[in-house]
Amino acid sequence: MSLKRIYSFGGGRAEGGPGLRERLGGKGAGLVEMTRIGLPVPPGFVITTDTCALYLKSGSAALRRTLGRDLAGAVKRLERVAGRRFGDAADPLLVSVRSGAARSMPGMMETILNLGLNDRSVLGLAARSGNRRFAFDAYRRFLCAYGSVVLGLPRPPLEQPLEEVKQRLRTKRDTDVPARDMEEICRRLHAEIRETAGRPVPQDPERQLWEAIEAVFRSWMAEKSVTYRRVERITGLEGTAVNVVQMVFGNLGETSGTGVCFTRDPNTGVRTLYGDVLMNAQGEDVVAGVRTPMTLGGMKSRMPTVYRQLDRVRGLLERHYRDMQDLEFTIESSRLYMLQCRTGKRSSHAAFRIARDLAAEGLITRREAVARVGTGDIERLFYPVIDPEVPRRDLETRRLASGIGAVPGAAVGEVVLSAQEAETAARAGRPVILVRRETSPEDVAGMHVAQGILTATGGKTSHAAVVARGWGKTCVVGCETLSIEPDGGAIRLGERVIRKGERLTLDGTEGVVYEGSIPLVRPDLPEAYHEVMAWADGLRRLGVRANVDTPYDARKAIEMGAQGIGLCRTEHMFFDSADRRMAIREMILADDAETRERALARLLPFQRQDFEGIFEAMRGRPVTIRLIDPPLHEFLPQDPEEQRRLAARLRVPAETVARRVAMLHETNPMLGHRGCRLSLGYPEILEMQVRAIVEAAAAVKRRGVKVEPEIMHPLVMDPKEYALLAERTRTVAERVLKEQGLRIAYRVGTMIEVPRAALLAGPIGRLADFFSFGTNDLTQMTMALSRDDSGRFLPDYVDDRRLGILKEDPFQSLDQEGVGQLILWAIERGRAAHPGLKIGICGEHGGDPDSVRFCHRAGMDYVSCSPYRLPIARLAAAQAALAEVRPARGRAAASHRARKPAGNGRIRRRVTRRQRGRRHPVAQA
Ligand code: ADP
Ligand code: MG
Ligand code: MG
Repeated sequence: MSLKRIYSFGGGRAEGGPGLRERLGGKGAGLVEMTRIGLPVPPGFVITTDTCALYLKSGSAALRRTLGRDLAGAVKRLERVAGRRFGDAADPLLVSVRSGAARSMPGMMETILNLGLNDRSVLGLAARSGNRRFAFDAYRRFLCAYGSVVLGLPRPPLEQPLEEVKQRLRTKRDTDVPARDMEEICRRLHAEIRETAGRPVPQDPERQLWEAIEAVFRSWMAEKSVTYRRVERITGLEGTAVNVVQMVFGNLGETSGTGVCFTRDPNTGVRTLYGDVLMNAQGEDVVAGVRTPMTLGGMKSRMPTVYRQLDRVRGLLERHYRDMQDLEFTIESSRLYMLQCRTGKRSSHAAFRIARDLAAEGLITRREAVARVGTGDIERLFYPVIDPEVPRRDLETRRLASGIGAVPGAAVGEVVLSAQEAETAARAGRPVILVRRETSPEDVAGMHVAQGILTATGGKTSHAAVVARGWGKTCVVGCETLSIEPDGGAIRLGERVIRKGERLTLDGTEGVVYEGSIPLVRPDLPEAYHEVMAWADGLRRLGVRANVDTPYDARKAIEMGAQGIGLCRTEHMFFDSADRRMAIREMILADDAETRERALARLLPFQRQDFEGIFEAMRGRPVTIRLIDPPLHEFLPQDPEEQRRLAARLRVPAETVARRVAMLHETNPMLGHRGCRLSLGYPEILEMQVRAIVEAAAAVKRRGVKVEPEIMHPLVMDPKEYALLAERTRTVAERVLKEQGLRIAYRVGTMIEVPRAALLAGPIGRLADFFSFGTNDLTQMTMALSRDDSGRFLPDYVDDRRLGILKEDPFQSLDQEGVGQLILWAIERGRAAHPGLKIGICGEHGGDPDSVRFCHRAGMDYVSCSPYRLPIARLAAAQAALAEVRPARGRAAASHRARKPAGNGRIRRRVTRRQRGRRHPVAQA
């Protein structure tokens, strides 16, 4: 039997069924389904998407040979159901010929309405409807569409005749154009088309139909369709279906109209019919803005019966599709007809509200509700944004430059050019935008107080971007037209000069810089968000922790759902105030251990105080503190002026400072004297930090607050190295605990961020209480890619129109193929050597949805990310759990090994959930 290429619907029956979406396209499948559930849909048929592929490959003759018989049969059937014949002079069958692919491509392909009209049948239509104006209006629309879609003529000359008549009649409304003039317009269109296309519009409806079908198929390959599919990454589709649907007329007079509607408000999610109708109009008039449409609210009072009907349709469709729908309908002489339905696009607010409400109404389960919302929805929910009320034109005139939107949201403030200026202005309560060529650790205090950050260089993972993201701070990087004037008093954005103190608005979502202050709004979090997220928390197995360094951020992290701190960096603490900066610099510049110890003794109370604050804020949740990590020269002032100031404070010659700074210079600092190598080289640093941590824990515990400290060593690469670190750490900790006369359980563990540490995870794991994958460094070192320097070529590696070597930027989304192998290996070896080993991730990837899913499958205990990404991680973790094939109920199901991992088949767990669950209850992450 040959392939079925046409599916008919109407007359109470519909061919095909669900699951045919790929072949019938979204529109066709919707028409068939709506017919099946008894909605008022005009009859018609769908020609399959594979037929489009056949035509595009083999051409017109082949299409007609293959489809001829079926098409004739489908037309016959349609004529029977409609009770009208094609080309009938008295009462012709008219149809629309509509495109519709399996994925929505709004407005990208073509549709022709009123097909079947010719010079004779238009008179029949006029007579039967008793409305000559209507008949010629329909004919006019058909001729226009045929000329442009089938014959490929440009639109404007075809629209000209109507425009001229409207001008002559001094009206803007097409409904004011009387029958006489409509007829004249049709005559002119005939002439225009014959002349420019070299042939007339065929009078034979069957020929019209064939040519229209082919034209719709061809529109699949039109440039805008091809571009749209590329941009939206729509691949693997064969072509568009063609839907031939009997016409219903919204342009029959004032009790007719055409409309669009959502079954819930797409902005708020509220359950109400939301949309517009345009009376006495056809097709797209309602969205094309030819006249001002009326809201559905208005229709409710003017046509209550139709409104009630539409409301009933809404209920039926939502129950059928179990989701909010976007509908097209036409009212013909007070009768409602449905012409299209599809899943409606919605704002992030609405996404949560709708998911929650559908679950509450019993249409979907809570699990489904959690699967319905996207991590992108969460992201958009949080950031303050440019007030959508601001007119686009205003924005355009204020646009100064564009760059890379590194952290979404928007910020307003005055321009400052250094971290110090930022701090000064902030102390005076003035909001600032910190503008730098690039940022470095020296700038963090200034960055922290700024509303937004703008840099000339860098990409989405530059220092500025990573730090700003951690605080959810709007950030635009890589703004190439930005330069800083040599006198440091102004910046240049292209041609424009902006002085220090003048105001800018940053849009980190779009990556745009605007002049002056533009009003911002922070959308309130909808109630539904909290409910759906609570459901998500109940589903996930992965714990979520935050990467934070201050008590303030720790409290914020808890609000965002953190179950602990996965990474508390200690080095930011050294920049926090002038005193601290001085002490750390003194420590670094010290020539002997004694001076160093003196400086460290001054830092100790600061660190202890910081840790106390954090432990207190975390109320017994685990806190992983990483000992000092960056190369020491990052703490020292690089510019001569600052060096002189430091020298004066230390009462040493300026040259001494300059010399020490020069001595500390490294060619490859990221591979140099940093991480645990500092703690080994300067044991006093380790001693001070561990002491500060344990003393803080003791103090907090004394106040009756539980503490769970975890001390973490960065950049470990060897079991012996780790053994030494762990031993020294424990020695100090035990000594302090003894002094304090207290017992506090603490853990000592290591980052896995050097490939060699991953490879030797067995022997390291045997000695460690926990692993935390530092995937930023692990990615850098595994791929030999510097985060800071790869901006120049990495985009080409990722762009599939250039080299297309990598699927994603490996610093944004974990390279599962490569780096992921090391992680899996390390987890397997680590757990084999030490079954209770606690494992998490603290790289930027911990807040990336795909990476979180990977961590779930890899069997980690938790992911840790910046507080603002926590909700994203929570949702991604829940969705990862949902995506797992659900094991059959019963005891055997408790074994992870019995579970088929979704996606990566290589993942294998050694430990059952019950075993691990005993050691580390999920709630403890
Ligand atoms: P798109 O995919 O761009 O929405 P459609 O194929 O849905 O294009 O059709 C364009 C417009 O014509 C829509 O407003 C639709 O409702 C209307 N339309 C399509 N078929 C018919 C018909 N048989 N009767 C009346 N209006 C129709
Ligand atoms: Mg449509
Ligand atoms: Mg690191």
